[in-house]
Amino acid sequence: MNNVVAIVGRPNVGKSTLFNKLTGERTAIVDDTPGVTRDRIYGECEWCGKKFMLVDTGGIEPYSDDIILSQMRRQAELAIDSAEVIILVTDLRSGVVATDMDVAAMLQKSGKPIVLCVNKCDTIGELPADFYEFYNLGLGDPIAVSSVHGLGTGDLLDEVCKYLPAEDENGEENEYIKVAVIGKPNVGKSSLVNAVLGEERMIVSSIAGTTRDATDSYVENEFGKFMTR
Ligand code: GDP
Ligand code: MG
Repeated sequence: MNNVVAIVGRPNVGKSTLFNKLTGERTAIVDDTPGVTRDRIYGECEWCGKKFMLVDTGGIEPYSDDIILSQMRRQAELAIDSAEVIILVTDLRSGVVATDMDVAAMLQKSGKPIVLCVNKCDTIGELPADFYEFYNLGLGDPIAVSSVHGLGTGDLLDEVCKYLPAEDENGEENEYIKVAVIGKPNVGKSSLVNAVLGEERMIVSSIAGTTRDATDSYVENEFGKFMTR
């Protein structure tokens, strides 16, 4: 699986809580005390038929303000390098802070799709006025989420999935150009196919673990990847 979705954000905004909610596992450590060193956490997610790997980049929590900024930058760099989609988590209670602005600008420059999550929107109904402040980050429509109560997570995932490629039902198979060799019996279809396959170096036929006819043949050459049956 190569769809990676990274969660970035300041300490204590609720990254790990969100991660746990979305992956359905209590794998990320949720803690009120910053300064605890943890590993980056990976978890599989599926939404609307799309599978992706969610990464909680808040593995190492900084413990002072200046370190928070450098740490956030590192998280963001990691996410930019390795993720298809980045979720920037912010906190309704603290509002937009300078670090959020800094990281938002950095993420935006990367050109990667960014989904802005305003966490701790715990009340159902009309959004508080403070919510609209998050438009100032210049990352488009913020999505109101309460990771603790599981509110808004569907909207968040919908937004994330917009940027992920459509799930390829046939897996690898679609990458191959399908070639049909047709003709009357005995004109030499099989011999022709065999001749082509025989000349090529990288032949993969009847790949294990897939449900295909034994007659499926695969060939890769300088012109592309082909499949015939
Ligand atoms: P992280 O440092 O960004 O990973 O933040 P955590 O997930 O460890 O959460 C920090 C604190 O915020 C914890 O006490 C959480 O329980 C709390 N928290 C996380 N999400 C929410 C939320 O949606 N609403 C409220 N009220 N608190 C939350
Ligand atoms: Mg965390």
